[in-house]
Amino acid sequence: MFDTLSDRLTSVLKNLRGKGRLSDADIDATAREIRVALLEADVALPVVRSFIAGVKDRAKGAEVSQALNPAQQVIKIVNEELVSVLGGEGRRLEYAKNPPTVVMLAGLQGSGKTTLAGKLARWFAGQGHTPMLAACDLQRPNAVTQLQVVGERSEVPVFAPEPGSGVGDPIDVARRSIDEAKRNHQDVVIIDTAGRLGVDEELMQQAADIRDAVTPDETLFVVDAMIGQDAVSTAEAFRDGVGFSGVVLTKLDGDARGGAALSVRHVTGQPIMFASNGEKLEDFDVFHPDRMASRILG
Ligand code: GDP
Repeated sequence: MFDTLSDRLTSVLKNLRGKGRLSDADIDATAREIRVALLEADVALPVVRSFIAGVKDRAKGAEVSQALNPAQQVIKIVNEELVSVLGGEGRRLEYAKNPPTVVMLAGLQGSGKTTLAGKLARWFAGQGHTPMLAACDLQRPNAVTQLQVVGERSEVPVFAPEPGSGVGDPIDVARRSIDEAKRNHQDVVIIDTAGRLGVDEELMQQAADIRDAVTPDETLFVVDAMIGQDAVSTAEAFRDGVGFSGVVLTKLDGDARGGAALSVRHVTGQPIMFASNGEKLEDFDVFHPDRMASRILG
């Protein structure tokens, strides 16, 4: 996903190698090239501005280090600024003191919520937990069946409205899923919610109502990194309409420029917790800002 950005940044920084001393003009020229590379990768403008300001300030004020030559110092600063934009230290998931821990997934239709539900469930199981999936996307005709297939594949039980019980009320299903989890000693409930293709008042309200009914320990905003610039505005709409405590980037295996998704942390103030990079259950991992920065800087 970040191949172009990675190539561009690597070549900008490579131009610095071999320079004995960097003048302010050298630093300004490098900062300009980095700015163009970030903008071309769809990184949001406020993020680019703050990134460039950070790099310039620090590079110009950099203390002379015995261990690093000037070029290496700039590379180190760019790396550190990138880690910081991506979330610095990162954050661990919050677990409930009294199980079950409730994790609600919110995002546009097609963002990868249902696929993610299975991946997350496997991940929790791998951490020694006993997860359960709750089918609260009652909007899309096949959503419940799709979650049941995901549940079977990931070997995790699914709580869904009884067949033939009509469309059902997603808020009621969410509430009952928690009771069911308590009864069966399932210590994590992952709630799949409905999404539309665009931001939609009614579904936003439904997600907010589910949130109020079950007070999730984590609400994860799921965003398809392939949607480009819309990632930022969608994230803002979900932040204001539902609120979320973390972000999951999906489809990082795609060939889009991806910079917008990288901006979501900075723009919303919430950390990127997980990343999905494929359709298979195992194409998923905890998001590590430092590893992603190293990948981008090559
Ligand atoms: P939902 O509408 O938010 O529940 O989205 P789905 O989970 O149904 O995913 C929409 C489509 O994206 C499906 O075809 C998934 O197989 C696909 N998908 C989900 N996550 C990824 C991913 O990380 N990479 C790729 N390439 N495809 C994905």
